[in-house]
Formats: sequence, structure tokens, C-alpha cells
Amino acid sequence: MKTVVITGGAGFLGSHLCELFLRKNYRVVCIDNLLTGDKDNIAPLLCRKAFVFMKQDIVKGLRVPGPVDLVLHFASPASPVDYQEHPLETMLAGSAGTHHCLELACMKKASFLLASTSEVYGDPLVHPQIEDYWGNVNPIGVRSVYDEAKRFAEAMTMAYRRVRGLDTKIVRIFNTYGPRMRANDGRAIPNFISQALKGKPITIYGDGTQTRSFCYVSDLVDGIYRLSRSAFHQPVNIGNPREMTLREMAVVVKKMTGSKSRLIFKPFPQDDPRQRQPNISRARKILKWGPKVGLEEGLSATVSWFRDHI
Ligand code: NAD
Ligand code: UDP
Repeated sequence: MKTVVITGGAGFLGSHLCELFLRKNYRVVCIDNLLTGDKDNIAPLLCRKAFVFMKQDIVKGLRVPGPVDLVLHFASPASPVDYQEHPLETMLAGSAGTHHCLELACMKKASFLLASTSEVYGDPLVHPQIEDYWGNVNPIGVRSVYDEAKRFAEAMTMAYRRVRGLDTKIVRIFNTYGPRMRANDGRAIPNFISQALKGKPITIYGDGTQTRSFCYVSDLVDGIYRLSRSAFHQPVNIGNPREMTLREMAVVVKKMTGSKSRLIFKPFPQDDPRQRQPNISRARKILKWGPKVGLEEGLSATVSWFRDHI
């Protein structure tokens, strides 16, 4: 039985990855300091023999006994509200935290996979975004603590590959949604759904013409699993290329929840990317991966989860 260490395993994506790797017959070691995660996300897994939870802060160090075959590094605040509330923790998770995860992988002779992000492209001047685009990031803006930490983490991952011969992979994740997002994490989909379900105004930042492309979580973790098993070491975009404006998304959520909430408009946040859409040709070619879950199907599963949990 192979062992995978998943940092950030009690978070939204991490908990879905823990489940997937258990299904694939791995022993899963979930590491989390519960800064933005929740033990409830992994509660059903705690009784499984092949699952271990260890509360550790990866910034301070990382201790995992026994053999390890794969390290998936997902620990970091991820929503703009979270990382702007925890700017130093975010920079340290991406820098010192990544360093500790890479050292663990070296020590255990394991493979390493970094959770990077579409935010490395910043407010992109190339559209849709291909992996060869170097991005347009404001290095001192409010989003930089996240964007630059992830860019640093990518650079350090490649340095370990070059200098230490580590087997590395980098996934650039585009906006993903699904069950277990925190209702108050501040991201657009949890905000829109919880506002709609409570009959509160749906908050659109700016005029709502900015775009995003939303991927359902089961598609995303399938792509990550495939990447973890491939020998490909260049960054790979994983996301759903269906692009829409945030105003369109608010209308879809309103319709799907049958809500009478009105749309209200708030100031456009600093450095908020105006458009975002992944080019996924590389994932299609190398991983034979593409999204399968449509927006209506994914949103309806997410809405019913929120109905049960708000
Ligand atoms: P999340 O906040 O739900 O999960 C992050 C987890 O990391 C939390 O459980 C948190 O407690 C843990 N964590 C944070 N700092 C830690 C530390 N120092 N030590 C140990 N654990 C720590 O966020 P998410 O949406 O699941 O994102 C997971 C990863 O995927 C992040 O690295 C994020 O940058 C990346 N990502 C997510 C998306 C998305 O759309 N969800 C998009 C791009 C990239
Ligand atoms: N957004 C919005 N209303 C909200 C939350 C977010 O209009 O209540 C916008 C936000 O300004 C951004 C888009 O939705 O343009 C996606 O934001 P999110 O925080 O989900 O992800 P990210 O900015 O990291 O892509």
C-alpha cells in the first residue's frame, strides 16, 4: 500500500483529495493546522485504518513517521478574504511551508506535487491563459501575499528538481467549487449561494462584467490524481474552460435556489483579475483529462450541500 501525505488535508480541496486517494487504496496522512480548514471535513474518515490526521503547522516543520511515496502540498489560505486576513501566514505557508514539504519528499524519496494557482497569471494580458504565459502580478498589492507566495513555491519546486533531482509536479488550479467550501470564506460561489438561501442581497463586486471559469471539485481532484501519476513536470492548468461573468453567475445561483434576493453592487477590489479562463490543451493531451460535470449539475450538488449546512 502506498502512502500519500496531503498538507491542507482538512480544507475544501484537501478533504476531497483524502477521500479520492483512500478510494485508490492509498494510506493517507492528512496534515493540517486548521487555520482555514475544519475537522468536520474529514470526520467520516477518522475511523478508517488507512487514514491518519496529524495537526501540524507546516511553517514550523513537518514530521511524518514511516515511508512516504507522494507528498501533495495544499496547505495555504486560498480565498482572497482568508489570505488578506492572514497575509503573513500565507507567505510563510508558500515559502517556509513549501520548503519543509520539499525536504520531506527528498528525505522519503517521494514524489512531490505543488498546488499552485491561476493567480500566478495575475490580471492576465493573455487570454485564455496558457501555461507558458508568465503573468501580470502586482508584487506589492493586497493579493501579492498569495500570488507571489505561489510563484515562489513554483520556483522552489523547480529548483529542488534541478538541484536535488526530486520528482516534482505543479498543478495550476483555476476557480473550483463544491461541497465543503466554507459559507463565510468570502469567495463568490459560497457568498452567492448563502446570500440567496438566506434571502439576503447578492453582492457583486464592481459591475459584474469580470469573468471566471468555475470547475466542479470532482473533476479537479481527478485531474490532480492523473497528474500525480504522470511523469510530466511542467506546470499543468486544471480548470473548466466555461467562462462566464460574475453577474451571470449571480443570476444562475438566484434561479437555481429559487431566491428572491436582489443583486447589489459593491466596489471592485484592488487588483481583482478582469478575466480568467484556462487553456487546458496540455491537460487534455498529457493527462487525457477534461471536465465532465456541467455547471448546472455541479451547482445543484453544491446548493443542496449548503442547504444542509447553513
Ligand atoms: P482551504 O482554505 O479550504 O484549505 C487550505 C487548508 O490548508 C486548510 O485546511 C488550512 O487549515 C490548511 N493550512 C493553512 N496553512 C497551514 C499551515 N501552515 N500548516 C498546515 N495547514 C495549513 O482552501 P482550498 O480551496 O481547499 O485550497 C487548497 C489549496 O489549493 C491551496 O493551496 C490553494 O492555494 C489551492 N488552490 C485552490 C483553488 C480553489 O479554487 N479552491 C484555486 C487555486 C489554488
Ligand atoms: N466576487 C463578487 N462577489 C462576492 C465575492 C466575489 O462579485 O461576494 C467576485 C470577485 O471580485 C472576483 C470573482 O467574484 O471578481 C471571483 O472571486 P473569488 O473570491 O471567488 O475568487 P478569485 O478572485 O480568487 O478568483
